Amino acid sequence: MKDCIFCKIVAGEAPAEVVYEDERVLAFKDINPLAPVHILIVPRLHLATLNDLQPEHKDLVSHIFKVAIELAHKFKIDKGYRVVTNCGADGGQIIFHLHFHLLGGKVFDHNLV
Ligand code: 5GP
Ligand code: ZN
Repeated sequence: MKDCIFCKIVAGEAPAEVVYEDERVLAFKDINPLAPVHILIVPRLHLATLNDLQPEHKDLVSHIFKVAIELAHKFKIDKGYRVVTNCGADGGQIIFHLHFHLLGGKVFDHNLV
């Protein structure tokens, strides 16, 4: 989608430190990491938020979680990590192209907010 920074990264039109890619998703390092490992897993398909997921996307969602698990192993954070998606402005979403944060390399406490 025009003017979407993550679509531009997916298209190779904006730079990113890509750590994984396949035909359905791209994963790259967050520009402003909040943990030693902070990777964004992004579907190539532009969907604005989690609310835009439809039943036809169920294989894509399961694939995204499979990639998250693989990256957790690759980056050696599989002992403990978080996968987070912020949905909508009230959910703290800034980039309106669906993405999942993979966070690890530190010990999180049980508080989510
Ligand atoms: P949100 O709050 O939308 O879930 O998070 C968006 C995330 O994207 C933020 O953690 C922010 O640091 C990251 N981000 C924003 N613009 C860019 C960019 O151009 N490149 C990369 N690698 N990360 C970005
Ligand atoms: Zn987009």
